[in-house]
Amino acid sequence: MKLTVSKGVFDGIHIPNSNICVSHLLYADDALFLGEWSKKNIDNLARILRCFYVASGLKVNFTKSKVYGIGAPLQEANNWACRLRCEPASVPFTFLGVPIGANMNRIATWQPVMEKLKSKLSSWKAKTLSFGGRVTLVKAVLGSIPIYFLTIFNAPIGVINLLEKIRRQFIWGGPNCNRNINWVAWGKIIAPKKVGGLDLGSIRSLNLALLTKWLWRLNNEPNALWVKIIKGLHFLNGEEQGICLRSHWNGVWRSIVKCKAILDRIIIPFDEVMKPGIPGQGWVSPFVVNAEFCMALLRERIERADFPVCDGRFPWLKMIPLKVLGFVWRAKQNKIATSEALRNRGIVLESSLCGVCRESEETGDHLLVSCPLAKDIFQSIYNWCNVQVSGLQSVSNMIDFASKWGNCPNKRKTLITILFGTLWCLWRARNDKIFNKAQWQPAKIVSIIQSQTFNWVKYRGEKTKLEWSLWIKNPLNCN
Ligand SMILES: [Zn+2]
Repeated sequence: MKLTVSKGVFDGIHIPNSNICVSHLLYADDALFLGEWSKKNIDNLARILRCFYVASGLKVNFTKSKVYGIGAPLQEANNWACRLRCEPASVPFTFLGVPIGANMNRIATWQPVMEKLKSKLSSWKAKTLSFGGRVTLVKAVLGSIPIYFLTIFNAPIGVINLLEKIRRQFIWGGPNCNRNINWVAWGKIIAPKKVGGLDLGSIRSLNLALLTKWLWRLNNEPNALWVKIIKGLHFLNGEEQGICLRSHWNGVWRSIVKCKAILDRIIIPFDEVMKPGIPGQGWVSPFVVNAEFCMALLRERIERADFPVCDGRFPWLKMIPLKVLGFVWRAKQNKIATSEALRNRGIVLESSLCGVCRESEETGDHLLVSCPLAKDIFQSIYNWCNVQVSGLQSVSNMIDFASKWGNCPNKRKTLITILFGTLWCLWRARNDKIFNKAQWQPAKIVSIIQSQTFNWVKYRGEKTKLEWSLWIKNPLNCN
């Protein structure tokens, strides 16, 4: 192809302000030929492909190929496509899963992304998963599905809101579940763990970080073809470092450059993200790890700018199952489905008294800390662990106490695991009593807590040598 361009047989697309002429792009088993819209080009392309067949034995399947006449009269495009025995087609079209030539400011263009996300986060899945499981799935799905679009296009705010709505509905029990309650403000679900959030991350921060990476790449990959094309189109000469753009060129690059202004607006000066280093050697940036721009670091920085308030650290220990962590995280904020909380949210109940003792209002802190059953069980657990505890009034108190307890981080982790396991088992026992009319003896609950937390520490915490006989005597002494 290069030869045919240099001999004037095929006219590729000349990029202004550069000596680049793009005639073809190859990716995997896709080939794209680009050229001036002329009859000469069409005829010669047919001849070139014929020569290619004769020389290589590889026949081009014309019926599977398409001709796009961009800016050309439709009838002419159709006629010329017939000449090549290809199908005529027009913009917008999809190439490698990304729309080309579509108006990305229109919500309708984003429909495929929304449909995909919806199908991945369907309501039947929401019903079969715990809160923790739903959070994990939402994280995993976002990591794969819309990322393709978000890597290149700046999503309009309407699209971001719709995508967030799909995720929110899923987290709280699926779109068709009409009784779902958004227990915790979405901002807290999205916020990083460092500030007390659930660390789901927002779609906007993902989009912004992915796009910003292009700005860094523009100045750090001077030899890439796309960089040369962008610089040619926007009059950026080779020496200059910058991201200015020619005002009337609308399109993908313009929306990427906008990121700079957006970052400034959320009080992350662009200088903090990257600044010119040695002339001709690209940008330097604190978000670069092993010579690669680390999108996740920038994303976390954006989330922190959005959620500056710190709500205390929460011990997200790997050895505790996420469903338990998610439950305790919610209980700490009194955002679990107790009778009192449900009544406050307008759900009619026979009574808002504690489902266990029937004496006090059923708040999270009552049920899990000050209810006689909870007190009884926690006392047994403290005795078993041989820890002195008194005067804890709330789940939040308890987390603070456990997070600061003792001098040995390993023992502290074990204690946190046991206390979280106890909160979880109390909640399970309460639900079993209310919904299944089951009666649990305190001793039975304690023994469940002991065996469950043993399994977590031994298998999830990878303490494979842990022995039951020692654990049951004193769990904090077998590290
Ligand atoms: Zn009670």
